[in-house]
Amino acid sequence: MKKEIIILGGGLSGLSAGYHLSLLNKDLIVFEESNQVGGLAKTIEYGGFRFDLGGHRFFTTNKEIEKLVKDLLGDELLIVFRRSKIYLKGKYFDYPLNPKNIIDGLGVKEVLKAFFDFLYEKCKINRNIEAVSLEDWVISRFGKGLYELFFKEYSEKVWGIPCNRISAEWISQRIQGLSWKSLIKSALFKHSDNIPTLIDKFLYPSHGIGSIADKLSANIIKAGNKINLNCKVEKIIWERDRIKGVYVKEGEVYYYVEGEMFISTIPITSLIKSLFPKPPDDILKISSYLKYRHLFLVVIFLNKPKATNYTWCYFPEKEIPFGRIHEPTNWSIDMAPEKKTIIVAEYFCNEEDEIWQLSEGQLIENTILYLEKVGIIKRIEILDGKVIKVPMAYPFFDIDYKKYYSKIIDYLSRFKNLFLAGRTGMFKYYNMDKAIESGIQAAKNLLINKV
Ligand SMILES: Cc1cc2nc3c(=O)[nH]c(=O)nc-3n(C[C@H](O)[C@H](O)[C@H](O)COP(=O)(O)OP(=O)(O)OC[C@H]3O[C@@H](n4cnc5c(N)ncnc54)[C@H](O)[C@@H]3O)c2cc1C
Repeated sequence: MKKEIIILGGGLSGLSAGYHLSLLNKDLIVFEESNQVGGLAKTIEYGGFRFDLGGHRFFTTNKEIEKLVKDLLGDELLIVFRRSKIYLKGKYFDYPLNPKNIIDGLGVKEVLKAFFDFLYEKCKINRNIEAVSLEDWVISRFGKGLYELFFKEYSEKVWGIPCNRISAEWISQRIQGLSWKSLIKSALFKHSDNIPTLIDKFLYPSHGIGSIADKLSANIIKAGNKINLNCKVEKIIWERDRIKGVYVKEGEVYYYVEGEMFISTIPITSLIKSLFPKPPDDILKISSYLKYRHLFLVVIFLNKPKATNYTWCYFPEKEIPFGRIHEPTNWSIDMAPEKKTIIVAEYFCNEEDEIWQLSEGQLIENTILYLEKVGIIKRIEILDGKVIKVPMAYPFFDIDYKKYYSKIIDYLSRFKNLFLAGRTGMFKYYNMDKAIESGIQAAKNLLINKV
């Protein structure tokens, strides 16, 4: 088989590339390893319930991407008002922070200390030195007090290493535009300046975030192109400066597809490993230094209409093993059968961590224990539980990653007919809007470079 364009990965970036190219009547095929499109932004259906791989809100400042998503989903898009909490020292705090709630919970003394720590940072003579680690970045902007209260433990839970080893890049992308000024403005005037972490409402499809991928995929198929599910790209054949084709494993069958142009959205490290002939040893070695952090979800199905009032709740403290929970029915009532609800708890870990190896029963039991402890569920209300493992969910930005990353990008740039896109594919901390944007951009670059 020979194809004009081969797209590796059917997450949002691969599908957006496929959608853009399908609109232009291009001949293409998408290979997706799993049995469903959407990648990290899929919605899983189980026993009449629906849940995302961690609650996914859609928000963008890019008007074109917003229009694309609105056009695709039409009436299915809901506007959801965000209600987030942080659980600390046995109490629930509002997020974005609310001064009264914080003073009531922590006391005036602790709040004043955090504010004076911030003033101290602002008065430092050498405060313009570029922050390399997450710790430096947050302390220089918010002071040590706020860093220790709200950022340190949560970041260490997400990444599993101390904050002085985590690159500043992750936090600067995650809380883009956030400052004391914006926090105070948002608390006093409910005004977010479109800062992603402070926005008070977002878009969400009534049947889960996976609807975006489903619509993109339906349009690709409608244009006469194929999306092959359960198809893992295992080997990528190249010669001189071009990719020639891919070997795909579909169940027990292994076949070769030749292509003219390629877009890869699969993890950049898998791409390097699949290249044949093999890249030089130093490239293979460097690529093994780029890591992804895994995620798993423990989903608890409940026989009651509501467990919380929140869209999300964060649990920074080490004593609680999960980092965040969300209740999908607070995003859309269509996420569960009538009078039932679900809690989805997110855990972050590495493959070698003991917790990644625990049985489903142990993980569910442990989650129930802590959800009871923080007052969210009662054992008697539980209908069922399920564990979903999501390998390679987060590109892992330790402070040295850039050294290796640039060499990998430099090596891959020799392939004139290969274009990278997406969060895992480009090793970027992209949200959905950026993943979509990067897929469309890769498609545009491909068309410009097509000979
Ligand atoms: C817990 C969590 C919460 C998030 N919340 C939000 C949010 O609220 N808002 C937001 O905008 N974004 C959020 N995101 C980010 C969002 O999920 C991503 O930006 C987006 O889904 C990335 O899409 P992608 O196509 O780039 O990558 P992926 O979704 O990773 O897609 C890559 C695809 O390639 C496939 N693949 C891998 N290897 C192979 C292979 N060898 N052969 C074939 N196929 C392969 C995978 O199965 C996958 O489908 C969140 C992410 C996580 C992990």
